[in-house]
Amino acid sequence: MIVIRTPEEMRAWAFEQRGAGRSIGFAPTMGALHAGHVSLLEAARAQNDLAVTSIFVNPTQFAPHEDFDAYPRTWETDSAKAEAAGMDVIFAPTASSMYPDGYSTYVTVEGVSEGLCSKSRPHFFRGVATVCTKLFNAVLPTRAYFGQKDAQQCAVIKRLVRDLGLGIEIVEMPIAREDDGLAMSSRNAYLQNGERERAQCLSKALREAEALMRDGERDTARLTAAVRGSLTGADTIDYVELVDAESMQPVDAIAGPVTLAVAAYVGKTRLLDNIKFIP
Ligand code: AMP
Repeated sequence: MIVIRTPEEMRAWAFEQRGAGRSIGFAPTMGALHAGHVSLLEAARAQNDLAVTSIFVNPTQFAPHEDFDAYPRTWETDSAKAEAAGMDVIFAPTASSMYPDGYSTYVTVEGVSEGLCSKSRPHFFRGVATVCTKLFNAVLPTRAYFGQKDAQQCAVIKRLVRDLGLGIEIVEMPIAREDDGLAMSSRNAYLQNGERERAQCLSKALREAEALMRDGERDTARLTAAVRGSLTGADTIDYVELVDAESMQPVDAIAGPVTLAVAAYVGKTRLLDNIKFIP
């Protein structure tokens, strides 16, 4: 496994490999790798000739008041996990090589980026779409792997790749969970003792709603009210929404594939979870 620090060197490596007819699987991350990330790395490894992961805490997706400085950075254990998962390359660019002085170009994906997480994090998807475009330009992946955990992000990336004709297959991987159902997240490390137990209410509320949907409930207002009622361990609810699984726009009732998505604070930690439902 090699470590590459600049987009230019990454692209030179990738250009040579793709030129030789090899496929590249790519799993972008911000590090602090857990089993959810590793499931993406392993899929990239299994389905392609070569596998690359990136570790880059992307400044443009954090607002000034958010946790950019506090975000966990665990290079030693991350590189060991990447190597164990069979990565050929860790692309860990420096911030200055990604955003040189005078940087002024951003990618905006309209529609899908609106609502849900963008209400409380209006800068977020512009940062994600920009960094992913730049990472794709450096890694030249055949396939790129994203987690359903960040469902709106996944929908944004799919739309970005389609609209710009990037020719990358986006593979959405299921949510890896702790034994009690909590969706794995690098930010779970922020949870204090009692908060960790309370955090299970997100996945529990979604499982209960899923049972209602299986029993035939199709009404958005009743489903979201049921989820809100079950989020007893959360301190603040950011949103509970039922949206079309592709466009991420709210629906009044379930007629096709939907995503039931939750964002809520437990203590100071903002947690996300969701389930997909196909009637
Ligand atoms: P992050 O490092 O948080 O930016 O996440 C990097 C990638 O890992 C994104 O595609 C996430 O959706 C994915 N991911 C994060 N948590 C999980 C999880 N619990 N299960 C599956 N994928 C995940």
